[in-house]
Amino acid sequence: MLGRKRPEPKIESSDEAFSPQAVRAGAALRLTVSFMLVVIIAFLAVEGWRTWRDYRAAFASARDSVTNLARATAQHAEDTIRQVDVVTAALAERVEGDGLQNLDVPRIHKLLVQQAAIMPQLHGLFIYGPDGQWLVTDKENIPEPANNADRDYFQYHRTHEDRSVRIGTVIKSRSTNDLIIPVSRRLNNPDGSFAGVLLGTVKVSYFVDYYGDFKIDDKGALVLATRSGTILVRRPFVASVIGKSLVNSVIFRNYLPTSNQGVAEARAVVDDTERLYGYRALTTYPLVVEAGLSRESIIAPWRRDLLKTGLVLIFLIAVLVGFGLIVLSQLRYRMTMEKQIRSAHQAMRDMALTDSLTGLGNRRRLDIALADELRLARRQGSSLALIMLDVDYFKRFNDRYGHAAGDDCLRAIAAAIGQTIKRPADLAVRYGGEEFTVLLPNTDSAGAAKVAQQILKAVRALNIEHGDHPLGLVTVSAGVTTSQPSGEDVTPAMLIKAADAFLYLAKNTGRNRWCSAGSTPE
Ligand code: GH3
Ligand code: MG
Ligand code: MG
Repeated sequence: MLGRKRPEPKIESSDEAFSPQAVRAGAALRLTVSFMLVVIIAFLAVEGWRTWRDYRAAFASARDSVTNLARATAQHAEDTIRQVDVVTAALAERVEGDGLQNLDVPRIHKLLVQQAAIMPQLHGLFIYGPDGQWLVTDKENIPEPANNADRDYFQYHRTHEDRSVRIGTVIKSRSTNDLIIPVSRRLNNPDGSFAGVLLGTVKVSYFVDYYGDFKIDDKGALVLATRSGTILVRRPFVASVIGKSLVNSVIFRNYLPTSNQGVAEARAVVDDTERLYGYRALTTYPLVVEAGLSRESIIAPWRRDLLKTGLVLIFLIAVLVGFGLIVLSQLRYRMTMEKQIRSAHQAMRDMALTDSLTGLGNRRRLDIALADELRLARRQGSSLALIMLDVDYFKRFNDRYGHAAGDDCLRAIAAAIGQTIKRPADLAVRYGGEEFTVLLPNTDSAGAAKVAQQILKAVRALNIEHGDHPLGLVTVSAGVTTSQPSGEDVTPAMLIKAADAFLYLAKNTGRNRWCSAGSTPE
């Protein structure tokens, strides 16, 4: 717009983005987003912590379970073998006392039958001579006494003098085809030479039944093995697994060498299942038990719970985000509306302060600016100039060329005035009719006179034909007043009145000239 060099009056906000409303709405927007984020993070943190705690609790409880299981199965294995140990020790003492050559077979057989009957774990009791031939057993009606000289335990005792009980690996009974664990000891002649072997066989099924009574998950495992790593019994029971070696398992390789008991997480060599194992090496016999719960069964309840709470959490977060998005869109809508209202206000203010014909400011704008600038000049001790301009013989112009041409002429003069003033603080307005006013803050009388001259020159330079003007072209006259207000002495009205008086003087002294205090009209 023409002549708009001066900053807008104070009543207008200079930058919408920094208006108090915009700042408040922006803060509300940030607050809403931050609140949502904080709530979501808090939800996730609490649930995450709870889940981690449950996970650890599941494993802590599983550790207790496998420790207890290992302890129970170790105790059971020890008791089972000890009973056979005790019975065979007593029998050996008796048989050796009698001498194997003088064996009272029917009496010993009866004794063996009695002992076997009271020990449910026993598969059988056998006495072999030095050649491996069966001498006495607890069995009735053996079709044909067998020779067990080829058995591992027999060969061991024949070649080893130690008198303690020996636990062998699982074999298949020649008498019943059952899987059995041989618990054997050497029999000596009075001179210490090898007299034979006393054997108690323990049913593998005895352990299988016992292990079957424990309530553990399908993938859980209970294992009885020799200290050298050979599997004797295992739940779940698969015949082909019996006799397999655990020497390369994590527990045998890494844990048992340093500790007789403990808990370890390991992948089973037998079935490749990851388990938490409680293990225990028996102190009295070279046996090891392992009780394992599968990792899957330990975390399954935890995982189910996680899934449920996860779904609830996702639902809650979705509701929260949905709610937040609604609030955000409402806020954005409000911001847009406020912006539009502010722009409308601004436009209305502009309109209220702008002259519609020329685009310059109007008289109301001058009133505001003049009061402001006067205050400023008073505070700063600067001078302020005001130029009143009036088109010469304009009534005649209208009469001759018509009102529309008059309007065009006023527009052209306004443009010329607007282009003449240069400083940002300068303000040109249409005061009314064919009168214009130029406000020049911080300008002394010499500066104001110069501007007035330039305007007059610029209007003449428009070279608008005016047949009823002595000069034949449109001119303006100007009254210039300059003031350096110190107190409340100078008012806007006084300045306008003074400029108007000089304008009157310019008119009366021939027009197309400017007048000011102490200047000769020119
Ligand atoms: P002087 O040299 O003494 O100023 O004579 P003048 O004819 O210019 O002064 P006067 O006050 O007698 O006439 C002013 C004329 O300006 C009256 C009116 O026709 C014209 N006028 C005022 N406002 C407008 C306007 O908006 N458009 C047009 N075309 N003419 C206007
Ligand atoms: Mg006039
Ligand atoms: Mg006039």
